[in-house]
Amino acid sequence: MRKSIAVIGAQLGDEGKGKMVDYVVEQAAKSVHSTDTFHKPILVRRYQGGANAGHTLIVNGQKHALHLVPSGILEPNAYNLIDQQVFVNPRLLVEEITKLRSAGVAVSPENLGIAANAHVTLEYHVADDQFDYTKKQRSSTGNGIRQTAVDKQNRTGIRFVEFLDQQAFKGALEERFPKGLPEQYGSLESFIDSYAAERDFLQGFVIQSHIAGKRHGGEYEIWEGAQGVLLDVDVGLSPDVTSSNPAFIPGKTDLRMGVFKLYKSSAGTGKRPFVSQMPQTLERKVRKPWGEFGTTTHKPRDIGWFDAVAAKYAVEAAQIDVAVFTCGDKMELLHQLGVKPKIAVGYVVGGIQFNEWNHSFHKRGFLHHVKPVYEEFEPWEHFTEQDGRSLSPNAARYVRRIEELLDRECILLGTGPGREEMIVRKNPYDLIR
Ligand code: GDP
Repeated sequence: MRKSIAVIGAQLGDEGKGKMVDYVVEQAAKSVHSTDTFHKPILVRRYQGGANAGHTLIVNGQKHALHLVPSGILEPNAYNLIDQQVFVNPRLLVEEITKLRSAGVAVSPENLGIAANAHVTLEYHVADDQFDYTKKQRSSTGNGIRQTAVDKQNRTGIRFVEFLDQQAFKGALEERFPKGLPEQYGSLESFIDSYAAERDFLQGFVIQSHIAGKRHGGEYEIWEGAQGVLLDVDVGLSPDVTSSNPAFIPGKTDLRMGVFKLYKSSAGTGKRPFVSQMPQTLERKVRKPWGEFGTTTHKPRDIGWFDAVAAKYAVEAAQIDVAVFTCGDKMELLHQLGVKPKIAVGYVVGGIQFNEWNHSFHKRGFLHHVKPVYEEFEPWEHFTEQDGRSLSPNAARYVRRIEELLDRECILLGTGPGREEMIVRKNPYDLIR
């Protein structure tokens, strides 16, 4: 029986999912039985989002920036699917594959597929987004994701399989633009021609999602999320959400791992409430050493204390079974600064304290008016003991308290950016019977 694990960002994105997916893939790879290249035993599915996300993988000291390609691309026994809920920008995808190839990573239809029904992000989506972006300062990355999603829901979107077929592409564009393409994109023909290179390049990668699921992943299936639960278009902090569903896995899973940073950060919008934000003076001191700038946008992120109210909500909304914590090592800096780490354990509003997520929190702007209730902890000079395998006492107390608040066990702990920098308390596959 296939074992299926999902890796879900459980905050506001950038929790460090990439490395965790990579770890899960590696564990799967260690115990595969088959090495059939036509039926790859591991299937890694990127299940939502678009090029608005960014995962960073560091392998053998080399950095790989992934935006659309799933994290199993480095594993020879894995087939990687850009699944049908992903928004695919053909130009960026070609660029990404080309870069991976030049870094010596083998990428071919043997190990990468693009779902026929995935919607494509085209130039006009990106241009509209860039315009909106400067105008409204919404939580966009300026990549045309929302515009692609609007077209999809509006039934005016173009699926990858149509994009690949010149005639179908033309027909779909004519339906989308009954009065002709906006002038700046030239004629319909020249617009279609401008994608000739991408069409040729990507032709061989098309596959139906269900066929990929039938053909590959006979032993292991890994669902790779992008962004985070609190950005989910349905359960997230509307209206500053993403256009897809990080919280919902479109298939069966045996184990859902929620990835949390031990503090919180967000690319921010100026408008999105960010309860438990650190004082600006502290934010300014930690931002650079903690690398809190958007992977895709390079915008400085807002930084805050671990928000257990929101995190527990994410656990329940996304049915997370176990927790994974990252970046506790970065918080060593607080010790040097003489600052005690905190956890937000409740919100107070109108004289009432909420320790659990309340439906009122979904009213736009409501969370701007809540005050966090904090528990304070002793800082840790070193996150781990010298062996690197166990937590130092202060870090352990902090981690234990979060596990208690989330009512979930933490099975993996990141201890640094590198792939090997991790405390493995439990191998997730040992939790699946
Ligand atoms: P994602 O958007 O959730 O996939 O986040 P990434 O996988 O891109 O991770 C963001 C950055 O955090 C990368 O540079 C990672 O190497 C780094 N990172 C992940 N886990 C840890 C950790 O436990 N400690 C430290 N210091 N860095 C980490």
